Amino acid sequence: MKDDIFDVIVVGSGVGGLAAATAASKAKAKTLILEAMPFVGGYINPYTVKGYSFDTGLHYLGELGENGSFRKRLEKLGIWEMVDFIEINPDCIGKYHFNGKVFCLPKGIDNFKKRLFTMFPDEKNAVEALIGLLKDIQKASSIGAKGPKNPEFAKYMPFFMKLMKKSYGQLIDEITNNQELKYIFSIMSGEAGLPPDRASAFTALILLHYLEGGYYPKGGSGALRDAFINAIKENGGIIKTSHRVIKICKSSGLFKVLTEKGEFSSKNVISDVDPQLTFTQLLDEKINIESLKKKALKLQPSIGSFYAFLVTDLNLEQLGFGDFNLTHTDTLDLNEAFDEWDEFKNFFLTVPTLKDKNCACAPKNYHTIEVISMAPFEPFQKWANKPPRQRGDDYLKLKLSLGDRLLTKVEKYIPNLRKHLIFKDFATPLSNLFWVNAPFGGDYGPNQTPSQMGPGRFPIKTKVEGLYLCGAGTLAGGISPSIASGDIAASLALKES
Ligand SMILES: Cc1cc2nc3c(=O)[nH]c(=O)nc-3n(C[C@H](O)[C@H](O)[C@H](O)COP(=O)(O)OP(=O)(O)OC[C@H]3O[C@@H](n4cnc5c(N)ncnc54)[C@H](O)[C@@H]3O)c2cc1C
Repeated sequence: MKDDIFDVIVVGSGVGGLAAATAASKAKAKTLILEAMPFVGGYINPYTVKGYSFDTGLHYLGELGENGSFRKRLEKLGIWEMVDFIEINPDCIGKYHFNGKVFCLPKGIDNFKKRLFTMFPDEKNAVEALIGLLKDIQKASSIGAKGPKNPEFAKYMPFFMKLMKKSYGQLIDEITNNQELKYIFSIMSGEAGLPPDRASAFTALILLHYLEGGYYPKGGSGALRDAFINAIKENGGIIKTSHRVIKICKSSGLFKVLTEKGEFSSKNVISDVDPQLTFTQLLDEKINIESLKKKALKLQPSIGSFYAFLVTDLNLEQLGFGDFNLTHTDTLDLNEAFDEWDEFKNFFLTVPTLKDKNCACAPKNYHTIEVISMAPFEPFQKWANKPPRQRGDDYLKLKLSLGDRLLTKVEKYIPNLRKHLIFKDFATPLSNLFWVNAPFGGDYGPNQTPSQMGPGRFPIKTKVEGLYLCGAGTLAGGISPSIASGDIAASLALKES
């Protein structure tokens, strides 16, 4: 009977869950992952169709250089040596088209500053102050992560309070009125899932993440997923797909995790499922934590995406494309871009076949292109209870007309793309809901507003002994914070059990 008891059960195999299971199994804990879908990986599971492969939730990563904190985390987990990370040209990680201008995001905060000094010679003080703000937010975040016992915590308290009350946009507004400069400091809005006026200041960490360089896993997001799967299996961990968890109960000090296919027992449970679902659906009432359940009931989800997955026979290098990600913005007012989402005023375009030139994601001489623009859930809600490909003609018509509108915008950068499309498919936030069980099809877990970040996010360690959380709902949305949360959750679980 004892042999059937796991040390750690991880619910959900998103990248946070994979990291938790890797850390736990590496420490020789008897580890099981229960995943609802037939596939592992959540947002790092690629969309494969007709021999093509597309990334859904991983387009580039930062902090993977020599002393990068994300690299150190991957080294600790034993994942670093299992994946080749290709560095994106450090002179231009992202190309931003705005207001008739182009800004290339370079690697290195000093290079960033120099580029801004050249572009805005009259705004040198504002540039210095904005960079100071980024560094302050970074410092506050690292002090906050060490907890209130840290001697510097009290000193930073007034700044923490400010970060809880003011949005990133408001903090920028205190420094400059220059709209273009404000735009550049907000270029990660798409990656934050919010315009600066609504985003937590902690989303500034995304810009700092990529200022340490941009990297792409050779073989795409699937290569990172496979490295985790291999590590878990080599460490003796077990992964069960098509095992949707229905309830997490606890009796006599042991967790009982109920799935559609049977029950599993464990000393510890780490949930990588969005906190909204963990606290309102999965946890048995006897062990639910009232304060976190209340918080979960009030959670605002992040915005989802409208995706275009494309394959073309055009020579994109001849058209000026490279390994950089391209961001198009019609307006300097990013609030407008989010509100009028179906005009596709802001979109992100990336060419995996140029980030990894030997990528097996498409036949030779073809390019895969992924275009992503934010899209709310509501316009698609009426089809939410139907599975993919069975949502009827009205849904298809809406999806194709939106896709066509997006392609018109994209053709500004890739003329005649429509005539050279070998494959096209579009997806809406319903894909996120169906494939990842993301509440309201959100891209980044709970919305990253001031009140839902920092202490407003969900704790990794809960008040229920042996119950931990990981994934985008804990530290922040994104691959690196999700992996960090999984590793921390597993370490705490094993230290405390
Ligand atoms: C369009 C898009 C682009 C992005 N681009 C980037 C990028 O370039 N770089 C970056 O760093 N981040 C990016 N992100 C964010 C990043 O992908 C996510 O924040 C991260 O992958 C979330 O990981 P997670 O651990 O929270 O798990 P998730 O990926 O949310 O996965 C959760 C898993 O739990 C499973 N599950 C849910 N309910 C149950 C249940 N009841 N029982 C069992 N299993 C269950 C799901 O099926 C899923 O597999 C992007 C996200 C999106 C959507």
